[in-house]
Amino acid sequence: MISVTSENARQTKYCSAIKGALKIKGHATNNELLIELRRVFPELSATTVHRATARLASRGEIAVAPSAKDGSMRYDSNLEPHDHFLCSSCHLLRDIDVKSKLNAILKRSICDCQVSGRLIIEGLCSSCERALLTVK
Ligand SMILES: [Zn+2]
Ligand SMILES: [Zn+2]
Repeated sequence: MISVTSENARQTKYCSAIKGALKIKGHATNNELLIELRRVFPELSATTVHRATARLASRGEIAVAPSAKDGSMRYDSNLEPHDHFLCSSCHLLRDIDVKSKLNAILKRSICDCQVSGRLIIEGLCSSCERALLTVK
C-alpha cells in the first residue's frame, strides 16, 4: 500500500513539474519536457513524461498543439482556443488569434460554410528569414 501511495505522490510531483515547465515554454514535446525536467529530476524517464502528459491532456489540464517537425506530439499550456503561427523551417510555434478577427471574411469566402477548429498559419519566422538572408 505504501508503494502505491508514494508512486501516486511521485506522479503528482512530475505532473505539476511538467505543467510548470510547459507554462514557461508555451509549447513543448515530451522530449523537450524531459530534457528540461531532467535538470531537476535526473531519474526521470521518457515513459514517465509520456504517461504524465497523456494523463494531463486527457484531464484537460494541458492542450495538444500542432505536432513538431519530426511528427511527435507537442503540448500547449494555453487552454483557450487559439490559432498558431508555424514556422515551416524551424517549426517554431507561436500563439496567435486570427480566426475571431477573420471569421466574417473566411465565412464569406467559403460561401457561408463554417470553419471548424482553429487555424495554423505557416510561414517563415523572423529569425529564419534573417538567417536565409545572410546565407544569400
Ligand atoms: Zn523559424
Ligand atoms: Zn498554442
